[in-house]
Amino acid sequence: MNGNGNDNGVGATYYTDADNSWPNTTLGNYIAQTHWGVKETRDYYAVVHGREGYDDLGHDYTSYINPGFTGNAYWTYATEAASFGGSSTGTSPYCNIDVCGHEHTHGVVHFTSDLVYQDEPGALNESFADCLGKLLK
Ligand SMILES: [Zn+2]
Repeated sequence: MNGNGNDNGVGATYYTDADNSWPNTTLGNYIAQTHWGVKETRDYYAVVHGREGYDDLGHDYTSYINPGFTGNAYWTYATEAASFGGSSTGTSPYCNIDVCGHEHTHGVVHFTSDLVYQDEPGALNESFADCLGKLLK
């Protein structure tokens, strides 16, 4: 996971922790919350749908928090990454579990139906992501 950077890795700091003990700071809490949401989503897809990761090949993806925009999140198809925007001051990433589930589902849609992200297929893509995100919540 990269925090306080952007969604292409430039200027981002890579955060990982072998014992899952994160700093008790605002940023540490956001990193832990995002990791938890992504892990819960991955576990849901594995247990309920028998799907290993967004691509069903077991790959992980990079999550970006505070990538330089506010109040939204998105999946990037080209780099297979999820970005969770924060507040105008670079805090409060938009990374609740329903948002994590929503973005992960965009990855699943990409590797299953590959719906074009425009018009009706794009609306269906968003609808599937919304439904699975709410289900995870
Ligand atoms: Zn979406």
